[in-house]
Amino acid sequence: MTGEAAKGLHLTGIRHTYASSSGPVEALAALELAIEPGELVCILGPSGCGKSTLLELIAGLRMPTEGRITLDGRLIVGPSRRRGVVFQQSTSLYPWRTVRGNVELALQLARAPRAVRRARAEVELARVGLADFADHRVYELSGGMQQRCQIARALAADPEVLLLDEPFGALDAMTRESLQTELREIWAATGRTIVFITHSVEEAALLGSRVLVMSARPGRVVADRELGFSRSGRSSADLRGAPDFVAVCRELRGTIDRPVEQDVR
Ligand code: ADP
Ligand code: MG
Repeated sequence: MTGEAAKGLHLTGIRHTYASSSGPVEALAALELAIEPGELVCILGPSGCGKSTLLELIAGLRMPTEGRITLDGRLIVGPSRRRGVVFQQSTSLYPWRTVRGNVELALQLARAPRAVRRARAEVELARVGLADFADHRVYELSGGMQQRCQIARALAADPEVLLLDEPFGALDAMTRESLQTELREIWAATGRTIVFITHSVEEAALLGSRVLVMSARPGRVVADRELGFSRSGRSSADLRGAPDFVAVCRELRGTIDRPVEQDVR
């Protein structure tokens, strides 16, 4: 099987159906996807189209009803710290632990020696600008800082892939913009594969090296667009007004269909 030996993420024949009180809900259908190492892929789609389901499948938090997902040729059968996950809400952080304690957690579970954990946490906390908050409790942080803490925790485990599910969706516009810029910088500095879920066309266009558009539920990939425009020396404010950026947003917007029914959740 040639496809399975390939590097990167490969999703083949993915279908996912939930059992719900009002009968089966088909969240994903006939979804095919390949992501190469080092890509920053934004997955864009309307609410309820199956984006979170897709991310949870890649994370190994759920098993698909049908199909297979491989990373570097290895079948994904459960969660792994090699696939770091960042959620919209910071409820996955442990409130009784310090910021540093949260970041060290994955390494502690992997039985890394204390000095190694400390050193890794220092590096990642500095990277996300939280060095001075290492001894704070999570609830003492702002929303943006909690998201930085989640990112540092995921990076500390040295993941091959970073999976983010609308991580900046609950933040105010200014904080969101800073974190978007920082995530691009993290991507450039670490070369990690990043899969970033969003329902914002602008966010996808600002961040992605490639944007995949999902259809309304049951979700499939209906558009796949490499974003080649230059970002160097251009702030997000510059980009937002630039004709090439506006044209890409218009094109992406045109590929999104609207959900045909109310989201049942
Ligand atoms: P998105 O993240 O794009 O908003 P989700 O992946 O959360 O979409 O959900 C896709 C569809 O699956 C929605 O119709 C939602 O109601 C349904 N769904 C999600 N999780 C469950 C669940 N645990 N049980 C039943 N239906 C679910
Ligand atoms: Mg979601």
